Amino acid sequence: MQLDDTLTEGKAPFWREKTLSEMSQEEWESLCDGCGQCCLVKLQDEDTDELLHTRLTCKLLDIGTCRCVDYENRHERVSDCAIVSPTTIEHLDWLPHSCAYRLLAEGRELYWWHPLVSGDRDSVHQAGISVRDWATSEEGVPEGKMVRFIVKDPKLKQILSGEE
Ligand code: SF4
Ligand code: SF4
Repeated sequence: MQLDDTLTEGKAPFWREKTLSEMSQEEWESLCDGCGQCCLVKLQDEDTDELLHTRLTCKLLDIGTCRCVDYENRHERVSDCAIVSPTTIEHLDWLPHSCAYRLLAEGRELYWWHPLVSGDRDSVHQAGISVRDWATSEEGVPEGKMVRFIVKDPKLKQILSGEE
């Protein structure tokens, strides 16, 4: 799917020109690459406090599109849904290293597969960055059984760690 190129047409891309706090709401929202990684259920290792990703997604994630099915009401419906904003971003150190908000907050560039760079919303899936092809919903999975879904595959761990 092609993106609305009025966001970038004829001028330097807004994400290079503006700080996160200077962006319009539309620009801010367009930065989300739709990877769905931030919507994965994470478990904390009791011994090390390390956050461990699971293959489980929040019940509100449409895994096919990697988009929230109730984005407007997400914080009311899911108490631990993170509030990502210019003021909170520096505290969200668990966000994936590939997350556009994190990249820009750290003064880095968006990757080639980011929909705003590629012009194609599917590129995040085609590049294997999104959770679409391997995640499953937390719906119906008892909390005590979530540990079975901890990501162990080295390739997925690499994607989730943001290592290149
Ligand atoms: S990790 Fe960042 S870019 Fe990916 S879906 Fe979440 S907020 Fe959007
Ligand atoms: S409520 Fe929506 S945005 Fe928040 S974690 Fe769940 S799927 Fe993701």
